[in-house]
Formats: sequence, C-alpha cells, structure tokens
Amino acid sequence: MKRLPLPGFDVRHAVELCAFGITIPERAQALIDALPAMQSAESAYLHMAPTAQLYLIPTSDGVTPQLTGELMGVVYKSHFMKAGSPSRGLYDAIRVASPYNLCPLCGQRTVASVDHYLPQSLHPVFNLTPVNLVPSCSDCNKNKLAKLAQSAERQTLHPYFDDLGNERWLVADIRETTPPSIAYRVRPAQAWTAVLAQRVQHHFEVMGLAELYAAQAASELADISFGLERVGQTGGGAAVCAHLQGEYASRFVRDANSWKTALYEGLFTSDWFCDEGYRLIR
Ligand SMILES: [Zn+2]
Repeated sequence: MKRLPLPGFDVRHAVELCAFGITIPERAQALIDALPAMQSAESAYLHMAPTAQLYLIPTSDGVTPQLTGELMGVVYKSHFMKAGSPSRGLYDAIRVASPYNLCPLCGQRTVASVDHYLPQSLHPVFNLTPVNLVPSCSDCNKNKLAKLAQSAERQTLHPYFDDLGNERWLVADIRETTPPSIAYRVRPAQAWTAVLAQRVQHHFEVMGLAELYAAQAASELADISFGLERVGQTGGGAAVCAHLQGEYASRFVRDANSWKTALYEGLFTSDWFCDEGYRLIR
C-alpha cells in the first residue's frame, strides 16, 4: 500500500466547478444548496480519517431532500467526471496522483479509475469530496466492493491517511519445492497499533495480495534463473547469496515493502535457495 498526499483542493472547489458545468438550472442549484452539508461532512471526514474512525459515519440515502443519492450518482458520473466538463481536470488530477500510475492499494497494477473510499451508494454526501476519491486499479476497485465496514479492523487501508512506515512488514517465505515457491504474509511492524495490524491483514485479504504477489514472484524467479545459475557456476552459493543481497538492497532503497523487496530478502536469507533452490527454478 502506498501513501499519497492529500488532494490539493476541497469539496467547495469540486462542487462549484461541477455546478458551473451543469446546464440544468434546478440540478445545479440543488448541488450548490447542498454545499454546506457537504462541507460539514468533509470536516468530519478529515477529523475521523486519521484515527481510522470513518466506519462510524452513518450511512444516508441522500444529501438534502432535493439532492438524493441517486441524483448524486448522476452528478458524479454525468457531470463531475464527464470528459470536457469544467470539473474533469479535478477528476484527472486525482486519477494521476499515484507515482508511476501504479494503484496505491496493491502497488502493482496500473490505475484505471477513481474509487470512492466510502462507497457512493451508502455515503452520497462524499461523492465529490476529494479526500474520499482515491486512484485505483480496476481489480482493487472490484475487490473492495460497496461494502460497509462494521468495525475499525474491517476497514481497508486509506492511501491519504494510513502510514505503514518504513519498517519491513511484508514477508516472502521461500518454500523448498521444485520449482521453489513463494508465500507472502504480513508481519505487523512494531510501530503499528493492534487495529492497524488487523486492517493491513484485512486489506491484504480483500485485495488478494498474497496471490497477486506470489504470481509476480514466480515470474520474477523465472526471469532471474539463468543469471543466478551463471553466478552459482563461478562463485557457488556464497556468490548467489551476495548477488541476491545486492538486488534486495537496491529495491529496499526505493520501497521497503514492495513484493520485490520482500522476495529478495526471502531469497538471500534462505540458505537452501542460495545453495540449491536457485538451480530448481527451470
Ligand atoms: Zn490495485
């Protein structure tokens, strides 16, 4: 999971630009009239998100009597994110905010759309609230679903508010099989609260990250197999270990908890892999 900076604009900016592009006067007016309710909801959000309390925000089926949940859905889809609309630039700014265009929820696949952290169907008041809009790949968007977290521990991670730190927490266990296989798991960091540890585990399961990373790791092993055999032929297991440790260090500098960092740590610390396992990949 990747931390992202907060969007550089607030709900007032989003609503005003969006309303400016709506040519149906009553609809534009309903949106403007609902702004105070959305601003007050936005400040509650900003207050509760840093302590993982968003699950306590009550659901609703509309923003005001004039601005129902259904109409908010239309406003988002047919006005806010519509190509060529005045507000489309805001949507795009959120969509491209993640480095390398990689989804912050899995860190692997490319961003395909903008996801509502609190789902549109349950929290229409946050449909246009920038801090509730997160860039996401389509798989993570689908995996998360429009579900309501019933407790703090059942909330997936929020890229604008959750900081997992730089301590190593993603672990790749090397299984002594032919070919070698990799199993990913979460080892809670010392600095995490108990709730954060459970949330990371929950996020890991909901997004299917163990399976995703294991598949990537198997492909990576196939990629490096030829090179490792050459290193092993001239320098033996010690040279294989040193080579893998170098690869680990390089990846650690960029991201202490990418699946690659975890993979190379698992590989160079496995005596079995360095002595024998690397020859069993192909
Ligand atoms: Zn993703």
